[in-house]
Amino acid sequence: MGLVDNVKAAAEIAQKVGSIELYRQLLEVQQAAMELTEKNAALFREVTNLKDQLRERDERERLGIDLEFTGNVYVRKGDTTRAAYCPKCWDVDRKLVHLLRAGAAFKCINCNQSWLSPQARSEVRIGSFER
Ligand SMILES: [Zn+2]
Repeated sequence: MGLVDNVKAAAEIAQKVGSIELYRQLLEVQQAAMELTEKNAALFREVTNLKDQLRERDERERLGIDLEFTGNVYVRKGDTTRAAYCPKCWDVDRKLVHLLRAGAAFKCINCNQSWLSPQARSEVRIGSFER
């Protein structure tokens, strides 16, 4: 039985024994307990939200340490898959977004920006992007 239920039970007892003043006081306590319960729930939601934000910030920091800017894109240090990530999305929003690749050209599916790597010499067929 929680705080609100206990106060409600005490108020019912006060009503049965005819103690009007005690009953009135317990109703006020019950109201205060309900308000505290609502505030507690709101604080719990806020703490959960802040913990999520901290976890996301820590993850972004961890990713940032792991990233290397090379050839106009970000890559993960030690990653042998050659996956490239959008510098605009990372630098501005701290979002790690895979880039679509067509030869030496890249396109971001989040910010829709396209560009060539510095090594690009040949014509690039736009529209043939792949991950
Ligand atoms: Zn982007």
